Formats: sequence, structure tokens, C-alpha cells
Amino acid sequence: MKVNVSLCVLASLFISLSDAAGLTGNWPPLDQPPPPVKEWTALVDQTKVPAAPVVKAADVGTKCPDKDTFCNWSCTGCTRNDTDIVRCPNKGDWGISFDDGPTEFTVGLLDFLLKTNTKVTFFVIGSRVVENPEILQRAVKEGHQIGIHTWSHPALTSQTTEQIIAELKWTEKAIQQAVGLTPKHMRPPFGDYDDRVRGIASQLGYKVVIWDEDTNDWMSADDKTFQLSWIEGNFTEWVKQPATTGHISLEHDLYQQTAARAQLGIPIVQNAGFSIKPVSVCVGDKPYVENVTLDAPAAAAPAAAPAAAPAAAPAAAPAKAAPAPAGKAAPTPAKAAKAAPPPASSPAAYPSSYPYLVGSSSASAAAPSSTSSGYVVSSANSLNNINLWSFVSFIVGSVMFI
Ligand SMILES: [Zn+2]
Repeated sequence: MKVNVSLCVLASLFISLSDAAGLTGNWPPLDQPPPPVKEWTALVDQTKVPAAPVVKAADVGTKCPDKDTFCNWSCTGCTRNDTDIVRCPNKGDWGISFDDGPTEFTVGLLDFLLKTNTKVTFFVIGSRVVENPEILQRAVKEGHQIGIHTWSHPALTSQTTEQIIAELKWTEKAIQQAVGLTPKHMRPPFGDYDDRVRGIASQLGYKVVIWDEDTNDWMSADDKTFQLSWIEGNFTEWVKQPATTGHISLEHDLYQQTAARAQLGIPIVQNAGFSIKPVSVCVGDKPYVENVTLDAPAAAAPAAAPAAAPAAAPAAAPAKAAPAPAGKAAPTPAKAAKAAPPPASSPAAYPSSYPYLVGSSSASAAAPSSTSSGYVVSSANSLNNINLWSFVSFIVGSVMFI
């Protein structure tokens, strides 16, 4: 019996160690604004950054000046043609993008994308990269584009210039360590940006990518009246709209239900004859500072929804679903109530309660343990803590059996 227990203990210990797969090194606490770093702050000539005021977090998208001097997207949906990537320029191209990963739910999505030879863009959170570097490695290996989506997902117009630089550069550093690549594209959380954010991103070498079609899938996290079938309902409507350009659409791999639902939207786009490409490919940009070329997408390889996909949407939903207004999809907290109206047969309006927080996901539920310096030695610490408890429980359980 003692031999058996020892073997079990050893096996349990091995599992505990092998589960700790976070990015090693010293990282700021996850899902909190990271500390500015002098060398990074010095990369930006602040005299050349437009002097848009720092907005109070609670005022983002709500308290707006009469004149939109600084092209604030949260206030007016303003974009700048010379700097912002809003859509794929060529008719027939479609940039599918997922924000807020990599999470455990990204894995099933990657399986689907691999099976259907579909390449997309992931705008990733630095805190998630520290937790799940192996998922990011797989995404890169399979030809997807990686862009930056900040470390802790704040509304960037509410952050100081030093804080914005830190949000972007800490995420860049995590991506570099995980996959050895330096992204050249970023997406502001909530689509919240203005000329100050543009100026900072530009000096750091990033192009800002927004979108022209928003699935509003993030609403399903908190809004029980949100019908998941509206996601593919929107795609069904969008592919029918006359257009002289291509599109960039927004989805999230933060939540299980949204990552899974994407598997229904992609076949709709492909079966309508669109060519799905990473955003960098559809705009003809280099994805990374390093000399890396993304695989050319396969020509029209329609994807069938897999058996594992969510149950098919009610027949009426896609046809009635109303897409977000072109170029003005509004996922900011303040505009949640105005974003894509639901199908006519559904409740008239979404509740306006928002807030959408990365840190509220189950994927980020494990609290990082802090050292006296305020830094997390490694996100693996939180995993180790969990495993330690599993380990102790197992030992107690084994002893009780004896
Ligand atoms: Zn986001």
C-alpha cells in the first residue's frame, strides 16, 4: 500500500509541476495597469503627441466636447484615414479579428481555424499572454497574426501618456518572450482612442486597427437577453450588403460562448465568397518588426460548421438580425445601449448596464500572487498555488484511504 501511495504522490507532483506553464520572468500584476518604465517612456517625444485631455474613466464616451477636435472614437466614431485601419481595402476581403485572448477557449477556435485553413488576427492581452504563452505560440505557428491589445484592458483615453506606453510595451514584451515577434498593429480596448493615443501608438511603431463590423458578442457575457444567434445573424446581413471595400469584423475569444460561436460566423463569410485574411495581409502591411511573412490564405475554401459547433441558430434570427451601423459600431461602455440593435422579434433594447472587464473572466480568475516589490514573479505562481492545494487534497485523500 505504501508503494502505491508513493507512486500516486509522485504522479500528483508531476502533474502539479507540468501544469505550471505560465511565462517565466518578472511581470507586473496581471490585469492591473502596469508600471511605466523610463526607457520606454523616453521612446515617445511627448511634445509631438497631440494634447488631448486625459478623460475620467467614468466619462469615456459620455462627457464629450461640443467639437471633436481630437477625433475621439468613443465620442463620435471618428477615424483618421491616414493612420487608422478600419476595414480591408479590397472588396471581397474580410479580416476576422478576435480580441482579449489568448484563453483556454482560444484552443477550440484554433482547432476550427486549422481545420478550415482560415487565418485571422488575434489582438491579445499581455496578462493573458503571460498566463497562456503556449496558446499564443500555437496561433503563431499556425499562421495567424498577433496584435497588441494592452496589458490590463483600460479605456486608453483615460490613461496618462506614460500609462498608455506601459500598457502597450509590457504587452509587446510578453509577446516577444512568448513567440519572439514584435507586432506592428494594436487595437485600443473598447475602441477607445483619440489623437493622443494615435500619436503614442505611431511613435512606438504601431498602426491602430479598429473595425467596421462589430458582432457585439461581448454583450453575451453579462446580458442574459443577448441571443448568441445574433452573432451569425449579423454576419448573414453583412455579407449581403453592397460594399466597395472589404471588412474587418470584431469578435472575442475571451468567453467560451463567443469563441465557440465564431465557428458559425466564419462559414457564412466564406460561403458568401469572401476571402478571410489576417488584417496585415489584407492591408498589405508587415505583421511584425521581424522579417516574417504570414501564409497566403487558401483561395475560397468554404468551411462547414463542425459538429462541435453550437446548436444552429433559430431560422428566423439571422435574417432579422440587424448589424451595427457601418463604421460606427460602438462597443464602448457608454454606447452599449446604442450598439447593434437586436432582431425585431426580440426585446426592443439592450439594457445599458455595461461594464465589460477582462478581469472578470474565468480565464483570469486566478489572482496573481504579489511579492513585496509588487511584481508577480510568474503567473505560474497562481497555477502552482492551485496545484499545491490539489496536491495536498490528494495526499489527505490518499491517507484517508489507508
Ligand atoms: Zn478588448
